[in-house]
Amino acid sequence: RIIMGIESSCDETGVGLVRLAANGTVELLADEVASSVDQHARFGGVVPEVASRAHLEAMVPTVRRAFATAGLSMSAVDAVAVTAGPGLAGALLVGVSAAKAYAAALDVPLYGVNHLAGHIAVDTLQHGPLPEPCLALLVSGGHTQLLRVDDIAGKITEIGSTVDDAAGEAYDKVARLLDLPYPGGPPIDKAAREGDPNAIAFPRGMTGPRDAKFDFSFSGLKTAVARWVEAAQARGEEVPVPDVAASFQEAVADVLTAKAVRAATESGIGTLVISGGVAANSRLSGLAADRCAEAGIELRVPRPRLCTDNGAMIAALGAHVVAAGCAPSPLHLSANPALPVSTVTVS
Ligand code: ATP
Ligand code: MG
Ligand code: FE
Repeated sequence: RIIMGIESSCDETGVGLVRLAANGTVELLADEVASSVDQHARFGGVVPEVASRAHLEAMVPTVRRAFATAGLSMSAVDAVAVTAGPGLAGALLVGVSAAKAYAAALDVPLYGVNHLAGHIAVDTLQHGPLPEPCLALLVSGGHTQLLRVDDIAGKITEIGSTVDDAAGEAYDKVARLLDLPYPGGPPIDKAAREGDPNAIAFPRGMTGPRDAKFDFSFSGLKTAVARWVEAAQARGEEVPVPDVAASFQEAVADVLTAKAVRAATESGIGTLVISGGVAANSRLSGLAADRCAEAGIELRVPRPRLCTDNGAMIAALGAHVVAAGCAPSPLHLSANPALPVSTVTVS
């Protein structure tokens, strides 16, 4: 069966096509993404209205490109999956409306699915079926969560999340402080390679004895970086960008991996999946690999292209939902900007 996935929760218009085999394996056939990130760069963050308009313009061409890449005609589609939330309301609405139109026109079932579950499901395209239960660390521009996955098509439980900024948001804000371009993750990652991760002892948020064990906080870290940079400038010193980037990155990677490994160890879970845009960070995946190996935990990190927002992740989740025999969503499905991660398919 062929499943089309549509993603439009933030600034990427994504369309993916996958084939679900009778034995449950899911194969990637096309993964087309149109991003409006350049249009947001001068604002230093995603502008919702700009994103919605860009989705509207990119949706149909991106769908066409996906079918051309896969060498399939639209009539081959057996189900349409779409991100129903969480995300930006106007942006989500474009994808949901398009998915309804395609599902109705092709006379196939529609599945409104959870974007965060999609970030986890995408790993099956690269590494095969997920061992369940597994633990997922989801780190992106809008989210930072530790999730227990008992069933990717139905049972996902949050065991911790950020109490303030998301990890990617911290990267973007710190990049701005260092005069690096938006989005900040890639340039910080690059600058950090030339720097000393132990040059500056930035704080590790939420690691005190009274702090929630599996929650995160990055806003104090961002403020600490800002204060450090201001102090250096006040002394008339040039800011050592590589050292600040490396030390900041070390603080983020340290807290994320320590808590994820601890959660896996304490719950006796043998597999950790790290996904979302920040999973592309070289130090995060490097440190996670070391710590997981030490703790005897299998680590799965999808390739960077699959970690950032895309349509393949929604098609992959759609395939798992179809394979599990979940009920389709009604054609009056609406977008839910605050869809909880526990709702994998909207019924
Ligand atoms: P959502 O949070 O809803 O999933 P998003 O579009 O913000 O949406 P992604 O596209 O998954 O999420 O990730 C974008 C974020 O990932 C940005 O904050 C970006 O700075 C960060 N990022 C990308 N590459 C890297 C990297 N190499 N190191 C650190 N952060 C990175
Ligand atoms: Mg994005
Ligand atoms: Fe995302």
